[in-house]
Order: sequence, then C-alpha cells, then structure tokens
Amino acid sequence: LSKKISLFTDSVIRRMTRISATYNAINLSQGFPDFQPPKPILDRLAEVAHNGPHQYAITWGAQNFRDALAEYRSRLLGRTIDPNSEIVVTCGSTEAMMVAIMTLVNPGEKVIIFSPFYENYGADTILSGAEPIYVSLNPPEFTFNPDELEAAFQQHPKALILCNPSNPCGKVFTRKELEYIATLADKYDTYVITDEVYEHIVYKPNVHTYFASLPGMYERTLTCSSLSKTYSITGWRLGHITAPPSIIEGARKIHDFLTVGAASPLQEAAYIGFKFSQQYYDDLLALYTHKKNILLDGLDSLGIIHTNPQGAYYVLLDISEFGFTDDLEFCEVLARDVGIGAVPGSSFFKEPVNYLIRLHFAKDDATLYEALNRLEHMK
Ligand code: GLN
Repeated sequence: LSKKISLFTDSVIRRMTRISATYNAINLSQGFPDFQPPKPILDRLAEVAHNGPHQYAITWGAQNFRDALAEYRSRLLGRTIDPNSEIVVTCGSTEAMMVAIMTLVNPGEKVIIFSPFYENYGADTILSGAEPIYVSLNPPEFTFNPDELEAAFQQHPKALILCNPSNPCGKVFTRKELEYIATLADKYDTYVITDEVYEHIVYKPNVHTYFASLPGMYERTLTCSSLSKTYSITGWRLGHITAPPSIIEGARKIHDFLTVGAASPLQEAAYIGFKFSQQYYDDLLALYTHKKNILLDGLDSLGIIHTNPQGAYYVLLDISEFGFTDDLEFCEVLARDVGIGAVPGSSFFKEPVNYLIRLHFAKDDATLYEALNRLEHMK
C-alpha cells in the first residue's frame, strides 16, 4: 500500500459517529443537524425525483446552479463573480478543499495551517504531497502570535488555510487579524485557501469578513464553502470554490478527474436556496444562537469550563476534572456509559492537548436538554 496511508488515521470525527451509533448514544460528535432542510428545497427535490435530471450535470456545475450561486456569492463577496469562469461546484467543501490544495501545491511545498484545525486539512496536505507548517491559535481567545505567523511565512509556504469561522474552536477572525494575514500573503506572495462553511453562523456582535473581499486579496484567494450547514443538507455533498479564472481553470481539471461532478438532481433541487431572502439567514442564526445558549447555559450550571464560540456550532469542554488522562478514552466512556458522542480534542490539535472534547449543538432542543441531563449524572 501507499506510504501516504500510514501518515494519517481515519477521521476521528467520523469514527465517533460510528461509535455513537454502536452505543446508540446522542451523537454530538460529527457536526450535522438533526432537523429537516428548508421545505422549498424538499418540495423541489420531490419534483426533481420525477422530472430529473438524473444524468451527469456539466462537470463544474449545472448552469442554473452556477448562475444562482454566482449571484449569491457576488452579494457576499461584494464583487461580480462570473458563473462561467470563477466557480467550480464540488462534492462538499471536503472536495473543494482537496481540489484547492491540489491545484496550488507541488510535492514538498509548504502550507500553513492554524492549530486547532479541522482534521481533513492534515490528510489533504499529505495526500497532495504538501508539508504543513502549524501555527498555534492560543486558548482561551484562540489568537495567534503575529511573529510566529510571520516566521511561518518566512518559510515561503505556497498557501495558508483559513477556516473562518473556525471549526473546532469557534473563532471568528477579526478584520484586523485578516488584514494582517493579507499583508503577509502579499509580502510573501502566498495564496489563501478559505473554508467558510459556517459563514452564516456568526454570533452577534461578531461579524464575518470574507478574506477574498479584502483589498487586493481576491486574486490570491480560493474561497471554499458549501450548502451543507447553510441549508442543513450535509448528506447532499454540495460545495464550491470561487476564485479568479486562471485558478478555477486548474481547479476544474482536478475536480473533473476526481469526481466528474456533484450530484445533478441535488444541484437542481438545492440551487433555489441561493434565492432565499435575508430572512432565511437571520432565522438560521437565531436558531443556532438559541441552541448555543441552551448548551452553554447548561454547561455553566454544571460548572463545566467551556469555550464560548463566536461562530460555527461547536463547543470545546475542559474535561480535566473528570480525572481521565486520555481524551479518546474519555469519549469512549462518554459514548458507552453516558450515551453522548463527542470528539476528542486531540484530533484537532498539533500541540499535545488531551483535556478537551468537542460537542456540537446542531440538535433538537429536547436532545440538547437530554444530553445535559446525562452529563449531570456523570458528574
Ligand atoms: N464539519 C463536520 C464536523 O466537524 C463534519 C464534516 C464531515 O464529516 N464532512 O463535525
């Protein structure tokens, strides 16, 4: 077998979903909602089931999907995006990120990754032959040290991966932080690959700034996102990359040979989401704000120390007081004996961190209350 395979494990996030299923635990590990997608999208899916399409779409995305997507991304990025040359539709942002890295990086070239990080980036860089340079986001605020970041840039990386809002720590990068990254990207001629799947889940008063919208940055940014979290359709595997034509031309070739294309019936059903009014996004944020409050208030009353996410739908819990030395073992016990699936924090950190676990709160209120109830019995 390829040597690459021994360089990373299977995804711990997705493994925890399987373990949760084994023990019939409440799955707060892999982040996905347990509520229905918006009704208009479901109604449209029912129509598509009968009327099609059921055959391949154009490799880089069905025309109507790309047209609607370009309009929506133009609004968000504050510039006109051309559906025919600046977009590629992918199988989730998972493929988008892999394609983005493979489009830019030659074997042996370096990529900056902030730690903690979404675990796919580690495997993505190894699979594309890149070498990660990790830069710490330091708890409790998950700020980076500007000098440490510049030192990483001095190693002449090809790209920096920016997960904003960040999974797992819930950090929303401030405009000032992004501007600093932009200055370095310019100075060291580095690309930026963003993963902005939680772009619409940013808690007030925090504000999401698209890196590609900063002056001069569109040219060097590959903006990756997906419909999974925004329209609660994680299983549909619909994502996309937006970037200048010269980059997208390369990305489309890689995407073509990796997957041929994202599911055509699902594109035909989901594209109407891009036409939703602002009210939809306000409601989505209100829903997640409410769920965040349920979980965080509950953890406070249990006296469990936790992060306070500025965005996304994850919270990191400090499990030091439970007396385990191994977060993996803690999560196994939590799933088996308490009935809650969680992700061990160590799977997100380059640093040796074993006192954190990650829970997500994209769940029905009653399920969140039940999880809190179970946690109380563990104490
Ligand atoms: N982003 C989700 C999480 O961190 C999972 C996404 C996935 O498994 N593709 O849990």
